[in-house]
Amino acid sequence: MIAFDPDAATRAYLATVNGAARARSDAYFEGGYWLILWNTVVGVGVAWAFLQFGFATRLSAWATRVTGRRRTLATLLWSLGFVAATTLVALPWAIYTDFVREHQYGMSNQTLGAWFGEWAKSFAIGLPLTALGFTGIMAAVRASPRRWWLYAGAVTLVVMAAFIALGPVLIEPLFNTYTPMADSPLRRDILKIAQGNGVPVTQVLVVDASKQTKRVSANVAGIGPTARVALNDNLLNTHDDAGILAVMGHETGHYALGHVRLLIFGFGALIVIGYATVQAAVPALIARHPRWGVAGITDPGALAVATIVFSLFFFVLTPVTNSLTRYTEGQADAFGLNAARAPDGEARIDLMLGQYRKLEPTPFEEVVFFDHPSGYTRIHQAMVWKAAHLGEPGVR
Ligand SMILES: [Zn+2]
Repeated sequence: MIAFDPDAATRAYLATVNGAARARSDAYFEGGYWLILWNTVVGVGVAWAFLQFGFATRLSAWATRVTGRRRTLATLLWSLGFVAATTLVALPWAIYTDFVREHQYGMSNQTLGAWFGEWAKSFAIGLPLTALGFTGIMAAVRASPRRWWLYAGAVTLVVMAAFIALGPVLIEPLFNTYTPMADSPLRRDILKIAQGNGVPVTQVLVVDASKQTKRVSANVAGIGPTARVALNDNLLNTHDDAGILAVMGHETGHYALGHVRLLIFGFGALIVIGYATVQAAVPALIARHPRWGVAGITDPGALAVATIVFSLFFFVLTPVTNSLTRYTEGQADAFGLNAARAPDGEARIDLMLGQYRKLEPTPFEEVVFFDHPSGYTRIHQAMVWKAAHLGEPGVR
C-alpha cells in the first residue's frame, strides 16, 4: 500500500495558489477585517449624526402632528423616515463596499446600473419591513417598559423563522432566476445525496448567480414544503463533478444536521441579549445627551439610540457570531465528506473559494474573522478523510 501523507497532500494543494493570486486573495480578505469596523463606524456615525443634529426630534414632532397623535402610526412614520434617511446617507459607502471594491478584486459581473437596480429593490423591500419591525419593538416597549426585550426577542425569533421559510419562495426569485437542472448523471448523484440524507426534494435548481458575481456557491434553503436544493451556474460551469458533489454533500449536511434551527436559536439568544443591552444602555445615553431631545424610551427617537447600541453590541460579538457559523460549517464539511466521498473535489473547490477567502490565516484570525473554516482547515480535513478511506470503493 502506498503511503499517503495528509499533511504533504494539503501543502501540495495550497502550493498551487501562490504569488500574485495569493497576495490578492489575502488582501481582499484582510481588507474585509477592516470593513467590519468601518461598517459599524458608518452605521453608528449616521445614527449619531441624526440625533446630534436634531433630526430625530424634528421627525418625531412632525410624525406626531400629521398622525393626529396616534402613537403607533407616528412611530411607523418616524421609522420610515429614519430608515430611509440613514440608508440614503450611507449609499456611497454601500457603492464602495458592494460595487467598487468587488470590481477592484474582479469578483463582480454587474454594471453599476444593474447593481443600483438591485439596491433599489432591496431598499423598497427592506424599508417597510424594517420600519414595521421598529414599530413592533416600540409597541412592546410601551406595553411592557421593563420586559419588552424578552417579548420582542421571542417575536423576532418567529419572524426570522418565517423569513427563512418564505425567503426562497418570496424574496430570492425577485433577484435571480431558478431553473430546474436538466437530467444527467450528476443531477441523479446530487439527488441521491440529498434524498438519502433526508432532504425532502425531487428537483435540483440552478440559479443564475453569474449575473451578479463570479463566486461559486450552492445552498439547501427553506423549511419543510419550501425546502430546495440549488447550485449556482458558476459552480455548475466548473464541470468538476466531484467538486460539485462535495459542495452538495456539505449543503445537505446543513439541512440534515438542523443547522437552520440551531442558528435561529443561537442568533435568537444573542438578539435577546442585544435587546436587554439596549434596555440597559438607552435610558442612560438619553439622560447623558440632552442635546438629542429624546423624551424617553417611548419617544421614537429612542429607536435611533437603540440602533447605535445594537450595532455596537454585534460589532463586539463578531468573534462569537463568526465562531457560531464556523462551527456549523465545519460540521457540514465533515458530513459532506462522508456523504459525497469526494475529498479531492472538496480540496479543488476550497482552492477556488480561496480566491476571496485567505487560505492560511493564523488561528487567531480564523477564530475572530472567519465565518467558514479557512482553506487550510478544509483541505486538511479532506485529506485526513482521504487517508482514512484510501482504497475503498466509491471514493471519487
Ligand atoms: Zn456551508
